[in-house]
Amino acid sequence: MKRECCHKAYIGIGSNLGRRKLNIQTALSLLTRENTVKLLKTSSFYETKPVGGPKQPGFLNAAAIVRTELSPKQLLSLLKDIEKRLGRNFNSVRWGPRPIDLDILFYDKRVMRTKDLTVPHPQVTERLFVLRPLAQIAPRYKHPNFKKTVKKLLDELKLRF
Ligand code: ATP
Ligand code: CA
Ligand code: CA
Repeated sequence: MKRECCHKAYIGIGSNLGRRKLNIQTALSLLTRENTVKLLKTSSFYETKPVGGPKQPGFLNAAAIVRTELSPKQLLSLLKDIEKRLGRNFNSVRWGPRPIDLDILFYDKRVMRTKDLTVPHPQVTERLFVLRPLAQIAPRYKHPNFKKTVKKLLDELKLRF
């Protein structure tokens, strides 16, 4: 019998190099090709202006909710493998252009910080391009540190811009 699992992870997705939509779709299909990850929901794709880093093309951003039996560390490692397969250059400048970026935004209600992984993602509350797609699929998810829903965080951030 297939094991029922277990954890819910919220993934932030971005692409601003090559065929952006195809890159995101390919990343999602590689993610769910694993029988350890099941895609529950995907947001629409949002056209966004780059924030920070060098001058670079516009992004397409999205968010997804997955059910997984992988630990946060194992999930990050899978996301990095997929980024690599899609041609991500890990030696390029920080926040530079990339065919795909996959971040763990939330993992259940977990709060953790290791050398390689901080959950919730530290910038989640500061980024409209993350909160917009996330609010489409998880408006009532409550940030475990700020104790505010994604919808509320988005509304508050919008007021600052
Ligand atoms: P940002 O983290 O500001 O969104 P970025 O996504 O461009 O920037 P990357 O170069 O993709 O940054 O990742 C840098 C490192 O961040 C990764 O090697 C990874 O180990 C670490 N990291 C820490 N927390 C997370 C997380 N929640 N999701 C993804 N990567 C994380
Ligand atoms: Ca990122
Ligand atoms: Ca990243």
